[in-house]
Amino acid sequence: MSHCELQITEIRVKLTADPASKLKAYCSVTFGDAFVIRDLKIIEGGRGAFVAMPSRKICDHCTRCGHKNHLRARYCNQCGQALDGDRAVRSGDTRVRLHADLAHPIHSHCRELLHESIMRAYHAELERSKQEGYTPTSFDDLDGSDEFSADDYLVELQPPRREVDRSGGAATSH
Ligand SMILES: [Zn+2]
Repeated sequence: MSHCELQITEIRVKLTADPASKLKAYCSVTFGDAFVIRDLKIIEGGRGAFVAMPSRKICDHCTRCGHKNHLRARYCNQCGQALDGDRAVRSGDTRVRLHADLAHPIHSHCRELLHESIMRAYHAELERSKQEGYTPTSFDDLDGSDEFSADDYLVELQPPRREVDRSGGAATSH
């Protein structure tokens, strides 16, 4: 168990209904019986489940009308201009970023504590869900409130699309 000044006093997990979905659950985390963060998500990635912090989609401006659209939008919401839905993915050799976290741990101890605690709560909730008379957690107003794409998160986890040097020559890196 990692050391962290923050004391997690409650974790609520709402499992998603569709077993095929990469989005496994929504969570809320309460610190010190005093402060709650909602809309964390548990997403099944290629290398296991991870916790996504509450976040906002990063936007850019339409080239025609200047309206802001999220980076994977294929059409401008304002003027209908066709956009390259992969423009962020194509943007070179830095890691793709489609979301900005709205709340997140600052150091690795806290990140590990949060991850461990949430995954434990998630697995406990999974076990509970198999029992008879199970009542799913409800966040009332938050469930399915936004269009959400787990794939967008998984894109961000992929390594940068650096062009592979196929020349077979000497290494060209600095
Ligand atoms: Zn536009």
